[in-house]
Amino acid sequence: MDDKWNEVVETFKATARAASDFLTKGFEKAGQRTGEAVETARYNIRIKELNAEITALYKDIGRLVYEGGENPYAPNEKINEKLRQISAKKAEIEELRARAEDVKGTRKCPGCGKTCEKSYSFCAVCGTKL
Ligand SMILES: [Zn+2]
Repeated sequence: MDDKWNEVVETFKATARAASDFLTKGFEKAGQRTGEAVETARYNIRIKELNAEITALYKDIGRLVYEGGENPYAPNEKINEKLRQISAKKAEIEELRARAEDVKGTRKCPGCGKTCEKSYSFCAVCGTKL
């Protein structure tokens, strides 16, 4: 009877350990996911801001072209400066998108633009080498 009882106790202990390990790993994973989500959200907010700034710059350029009067296509340093700002902001958006994908463990296929797992060697959609 004692042997049987000991077996029950041991089985119970092993089950409790397994459950505890499972929960600990689950919480670690959940914590990691939350961290990733927060980081991704932060990148997405910044990308939204940058897009709004780009839209404002396009508006400014439109006004400058309109105010150019007779020759709206004449070289205009104010317009060139705004074009440079747009390019810089677009580059920053690409950088942030790449970082957000890195956090999520994905990357964009250079061939078709689809999101692929970082561990893949080839794009699952178009077969391009990643
Ligand atoms: Zn592809």
